[in-house]
Amino acid sequence: MLTRAFTLVAILLAAAVSAEAQAPTAGSTVVAIRAGRLIDPETGTISSNQVILIEGSRITAVGPGLPVPPGATVIDLSGLTVLPGLVDTHNHLALTYKDEPESNVYYFTYVMDSTPLRAIQAASNGMQMLASGFTVIRDMGNNGNYADTALRVAIEQGWIPGPTIVNSGIIIGGMGGQFWPTPEMAVDHKIVYPEYLDADTPDEMVKAVRQNALFGAKVIKICVDCKPWGYTVDEMRLFMSESAKAGLKVEGHIQTRDGARRAIEAGLWSLAHDGPLDDELHKLMAQKGIWRAGTETPIVLTGHTTKERYDRSVKGLRNAWENKVALTFSTDADYYVPGKTRGEVAIEFLQTWKDAGIPARDILKAMTTNGFACAEVEKVRGPIRAGMIADLIAVPGNPLDNIDALRDVQFVMKDGLVFKQNGVMTPGPFFNGGPVKGWRIR
Ligand SMILES: [Zn+2]
Repeated sequence: MLTRAFTLVAILLAAAVSAEAQAPTAGSTVVAIRAGRLIDPETGTISSNQVILIEGSRITAVGPGLPVPPGATVIDLSGLTVLPGLVDTHNHLALTYKDEPESNVYYFTYVMDSTPLRAIQAASNGMQMLASGFTVIRDMGNNGNYADTALRVAIEQGWIPGPTIVNSGIIIGGMGGQFWPTPEMAVDHKIVYPEYLDADTPDEMVKAVRQNALFGAKVIKICVDCKPWGYTVDEMRLFMSESAKAGLKVEGHIQTRDGARRAIEAGLWSLAHDGPLDDELHKLMAQKGIWRAGTETPIVLTGHTTKERYDRSVKGLRNAWENKVALTFSTDADYYVPGKTRGEVAIEFLQTWKDAGIPARDILKAMTTNGFACAEVEKVRGPIRAGMIADLIAVPGNPLDNIDALRDVQFVMKDGLVFKQNGVMTPGPFFNGGPVKGWRIR
């Protein structure tokens, strides 16, 4: 037995070494992008005739008229505006509820669509989002039994193309989560799990955070007030301190004014949904620098908001902007709209921002600079500058003048590979028969 154990260790060690040796070496290919115009969303400025040099997955230099190294692959985007990829700070890629057959009730989706099916939907939805220019997505729960982690790992290991995923694992809530199940379904059949993780006592709260961290969550999401019992300020601080041990921040789903106030007092990292947020709460959020992921559904997505609800969203977003709240672009676009891809649904949310009268420059900043910071990727990806991972998109027109230019993404590069060119998806280079970026990524 001892000999066999040693043999197993030797095999595992050899596998580990070869996995490292297989990791792609930076600098194997040089790509030079000629950008007609290049936007820096942080400063809201645009510069002409820039060259972006990329080696492997990283940007190595950016500047006007840089010499193109011999042998480099040149990508001519001289007729387009190049900018960083976009961020949706609130989506659920492994959830697609539909008018048919479940009348847009996701409680039924959860009963009818298995986690494996939802994971495949997530892979497809991720590619659809990437095609619309979204290179980073915070995937905030309602993904069955960790389909969100599976998606993130599949993308990071190099099996399929997709946005960078910052996922929450299972949403943690008091008994019932966001469901109102029957006693039979809740107690006899435990229907709430895995859509929600019940945590009603401090021990359960600690354990729920640990479970999510163990199973691959990169952010923790809690239901602050989905039920009247909700979470207290102290309980939210417990979530925060336990999550911090694993390096994770906490987002709160809020739906009541009281809950929102408690979440702000606790100092959560980000708040999801705009329903209860008003002028007073916005001022407090701005003071504390809490990210706002308002998920402001546009009126054009008929059936997913009402005129009254939409008017409130527009007013609320305007008020948040006037109060200088840290705004992010967030959609909660987790449903099927016939004729549209998931990315096309997400980009429709521009309508709310425009109707709120927010300048294009600030909308773009919310969709890029702020999104990278909220998702905590900003040190490695996002800004187009030397040393960063090469994620970028290109559009005709200038989104600083007209934000609707973002509806026509012609070019997408992710991790230094071209995913879309001349308006057509070219995902070939992303598909691999093995974990080319390392099997130990979890
Ligand atoms: Zn949501």
